[in-house]
Amino acid sequence: MAQTIAFIGLGNMGLPMSKNLLGAGFRVYGYDLSANALEAFSEASGKPFTNVGEAVKAADVVVTMLPSGAIVKGVYEGEDGVFANAKEGALLIDSSTIDVDTARVVAQSAADKGFAMVDAPVSGGVGGAAAGTLAFMVGGSEEAFERAKPVLEPMAGKIVHCGQSGNGQAAKVCNNMLLAVSMIGVSEAFNLGRALGLDDQVFFDVASNASGQCWSLTSYCPVPGPVPASPANNDYKPGFATALMLKDLRLAMQAVRSSGANTPMGARAAEIYTEMDDAGHGGVDFSGVLKHLTGAL
Ligand code: NAD
Repeated sequence: MAQTIAFIGLGNMGLPMSKNLLGAGFRVYGYDLSANALEAFSEASGKPFTNVGEAVKAADVVVTMLPSGAIVKGVYEGEDGVFANAKEGALLIDSSTIDVDTARVVAQSAADKGFAMVDAPVSGGVGGAAAGTLAFMVGGSEEAFERAKPVLEPMAGKIVHCGQSGNGQAAKVCNNMLLAVSMIGVSEAFNLGRALGLDDQVFFDVASNASGQCWSLTSYCPVPGPVPASPANNDYKPGFATALMLKDLRLAMQAVRSSGANTPMGARAAEIYTEMDDAGHGGVDFSGVLKHLTGAL
């Protein structure tokens, strides 16, 4: 018999992810606070429920895709939550992007109650969720990872086991902190080149074949022209919005505070994206930082 999955959080990411699970032949039960989200889920042949407890009761696997650590904690630990209602032996997968510490606390509570749990945040955005090509970064035991894999596969382009509980979230914040720093670095280099009379395409041709080469330059170039598909060619429409980058940077800075790691460039990147968001540009693609740095945005 097909496995039953309870999917909690049917928003921009969760709804298309749940559709890919339905398409792969899983029976999918769903719950979201939003009536519109539940209706869209129901139109896609999912079975809607009116609370978390009812949705997870008969499920073999629970997947959550929620906005924040506090909400994830509430959904798992609440009176009507996952721990109080999931059936014995259910596998729990949290794909929300949340702070490492909360991911570890919730995974420990799951273990104390006898549930296997993985944190499995994603990159790839709404497009990747719809196409079933998300990159999953998974934290948890080897055994829990092997159980989660067949559930993640219909939603995934790539699935990487990053180690113990919380390590999926750790990999995600470290990657996105690096991305923020590299995007600012590439933007500064173009801005300095322009100030010195260097043509964007000429600088691109040099740097993309030299030691300055990186993804922010060659796949997501922040100036229009060299990489036709980059948001710079589309008036910096996201893509990956500044507000979402800022969420991940704040989680990274939270991890910095609790781990004591020294990340001066990451801290500065968080300040720069905060300024950009405060100036009302949270909806602009994060590569628009090139314009923010010159005051042109
Ligand atoms: P969203 O706001 O569109 O969806 C979240 C959904 O959770 C909403 O439908 C909301 O009603 C529901 N919800 C909130 N509290 C709830 C509760 N207590 N019980 C049930 N449902 C509840 O957000 P999203 O873009 O789908 O993002 C979800 C997660 O994925 C976030 O952690 C985000 O950081 C992460 N993420 C998003 C993207 C992206 O491009 N949107 C990319 C990678 C990761």
